[in-house]
Amino acid sequence: MKIRAQIGMVLNLDKCIGCHTCSVTCKNVWTSRDGVEYAWFNNVETKPGVGYPKEWENQDKWKGGWVRRSDGKLEPRQGSRLKILSNIFANPNLPSIDEYYEPFTYDYEHLQNAPEMITPPTARPVSVVTGKKMDKIEWGPNWEDDLGGEFSKRSKDALFEGIQKEMYSAFENTFMMYLPRLCEHCLNPACVASCPSGSIYKREDDGIVLIDQDKCRGWRMCVSGCPYKKIYYNWTTGKAEKCIFCYPRIEAGQPTVCSETCVGRIRYLGVLLYDADKIEAAASVEDPKSLYEAQLGVFLDPNAPEIIAEAKKQGIPDAWLTAAQKSPVYKMAMEWKVAFPLHPEYRTLPMVWYIPPLSPIQSALENGLIGENGIIPDVKDLRIPIRYLANLLTAGKEEPVVKALETMVAMRRYMRKKSVEKVSDAATLKGTHLKPLQV
Ligand code: SF4
Ligand code: SF4
Repeated sequence: MKIRAQIGMVLNLDKCIGCHTCSVTCKNVWTSRDGVEYAWFNNVETKPGVGYPKEWENQDKWKGGWVRRSDGKLEPRQGSRLKILSNIFANPNLPSIDEYYEPFTYDYEHLQNAPEMITPPTARPVSVVTGKKMDKIEWGPNWEDDLGGEFSKRSKDALFEGIQKEMYSAFENTFMMYLPRLCEHCLNPACVASCPSGSIYKREDDGIVLIDQDKCRGWRMCVSGCPYKKIYYNWTTGKAEKCIFCYPRIEAGQPTVCSETCVGRIRYLGVLLYDADKIEAAASVEDPKSLYEAQLGVFLDPNAPEIIAEAKKQGIPDAWLTAAQKSPVYKMAMEWKVAFPLHPEYRTLPMVWYIPPLSPIQSALENGLIGENGIIPDVKDLRIPIRYLANLLTAGKEEPVVKALETMVAMRRYMRKKSVEKVSDAATLKGTHLKPLQV
């Protein structure tokens, strides 16, 4: 057993209000520089939607993540190392700037300096890259918020394949949710495997994935190789860049910028212990629907005496062990099983976990979908289809998502009874499958 520590994050999607504060504060700190105007280490997507960059989930197009070969071994979807090397001068799977968006600001001067007009002057968009005024903005992240109906009618056939297309068509006017995204600091990172220069590495002590700027040669195979499209090419420096999980802050005992500034307080940081010897087997299980459970199987109980003893023997510092024992990520993802990895079928074992939204809770309450005992009587009736959430979070396996939503509903009911109605624990939990929580 090779014990390693990993810092991870849980995001409670029920609480995200799509304010983009996280994205903006992250940008101000890390990507407010030439060459990465278009880059958002943290972005918040409107779902269902094409995302940012467009269609990032379409791995047939971008060749991100891993595939399981017939002999059971894993290989980057871009192909063998030889194939990756042979493509470095003309990477065929690279999103263009159009897939991101042309960054713009507004010509605010015009508001003050415009000559007298019949209509009031308008702040016109100006391209941040070229400095030229733009006639119109064709596309941008979260376009679906404003133009969902019209946009989806024009583009859905071209943008969605298979199940996503079906779900998008059926529910385009009936539900919407926000999905904040950042680099997943994967246990099995495809970006590392894709880099011809060996410049991307995963830190031994906390699992943060970084790009050595001195070694990077700008081949951009990592941009294709990352299935989450969370590596950005800096057009000024000629190097690849990515979320660094605010490691200088983490090392100083501070939270990431996105966590600290999150308006909805949806983000939780925590340490996990895992067995590095189990990663390959977990990432290469045959049935994609088993990948979520396989991923859970690599983590170790930080409170088990034999794990504590072995971790100490292998040099895990006491501070990290204590952090693992108190970790909200461990509690939510492993113990309570209410948080899930995003697209486990990419086989990278992502370390950012998501609590699925209750569709939203207000609608569930109003429609009487919350049962007396805290169980959702028929999850089919929830506004965001379980199938959609399962496709995002468990490679299509619905049971764990249903169970998580039921637990979340029961939890809300429990907290309401306890804090508003002042009912005792025993009376509140009577008739449910839940035990009092040891928080
Ligand atoms: Fe690498 Fe991050 Fe992409 Fe995972 S999400 S493959 S760690 S860039
Ligand atoms: Fe969501 Fe928090 Fe980001 Fe606002 S700051 S969009 S609530 S994750």
